[in-house]
Amino acid sequence: RIAYVNGMYVPHREAAVHVEDRGYQFADGVYEVCEVRGGRLIDERRHMERLLRSLSELRIDAPMPLSSLGVILRETVRRNRVRDGIVYLQVTRGVAPRDHAFPKKGTMPGVVVTARSIDATKGEKTANEGIAVITVPENRWPRVDIKSVSLLPNVLAKQAAREAGAKEAWYVDAGGKVTEGSSSNAWIVTKDGRVVTRKADSAILRGITRTVLLDVLRDHGLKLEERAFTVEEAQTAREAFVTSASQLVMPVVSINGRTVANGEPGMLSLALRRDFHRFAETN
Ligand code: PMP
Repeated sequence: RIAYVNGMYVPHREAAVHVEDRGYQFADGVYEVCEVRGGRLIDERRHMERLLRSLSELRIDAPMPLSSLGVILRETVRRNRVRDGIVYLQVTRGVAPRDHAFPKKGTMPGVVVTARSIDATKGEKTANEGIAVITVPENRWPRVDIKSVSLLPNVLAKQAAREAGAKEAWYVDAGGKVTEGSSSNAWIVTKDGRVVTRKADSAILRGITRTVLLDVLRDHGLKLEERAFTVEEAQTAREAFVTSASQLVMPVVSINGRTVANGEPGMLSLALRRDFHRFAETN
């Protein structure tokens, strides 16, 4: 395997950044995960736009023109011979003597890109079984709309899910409403067929998969509500699912041990999963 690190393609096992990279010391950086399908990037433009937004919110300079970043993403995918999988891009504020405030002199942003294959048949198998989710109290900062590498609460939530035999953890805010998953957006389908997902304000990450799926739903003429829902509403819904670039549309069949509907993946969830790429941009 090959990784891109600050201007060079290096063997993955030797890929390293400086100990004073601010990403390492302060989680002072942002990232993107883009789906690779048939060797091509899915929704690259939207991912790049969100990257620029995350960078500008943290006042980190864009490391290079987006077209150059695109070349690196593609080249990393090519060198790793990834047909189906993901490409990971991380940009940090760079290397400087440790001090919380931004370095006065300015730094070169640190850029890392990795790519790996994911067994597509495994994903389909998981989707046909559906996943279990647990809920955890929302304990993240109020700017989770920024895709920063500061993911400690997400790490703990995902580990809690794993220890409970579940695949994802949904955060629940102080008002008892689900915000999103530790690495996905959360959705339900109500008994009367409305598709519900939380409005994209600063309490959730505006998932690219979420945005594309909204287009799919509109095209199907499905009734859509961008609003928060409670755990109980989700448990008693007709269907539930999560979305992310790496899992696409993934049916949820139990929440905190309580089965959703008959415990089988929802028909609509699976149909949306099949239809998703018709609306995604392939470059
Ligand atoms: N929310 C969080 C917290 C995430 O980490 C992710 C995945 N990166 C998502 C939502 C889904 O975003 P996307 O569809 O862009 O992968």
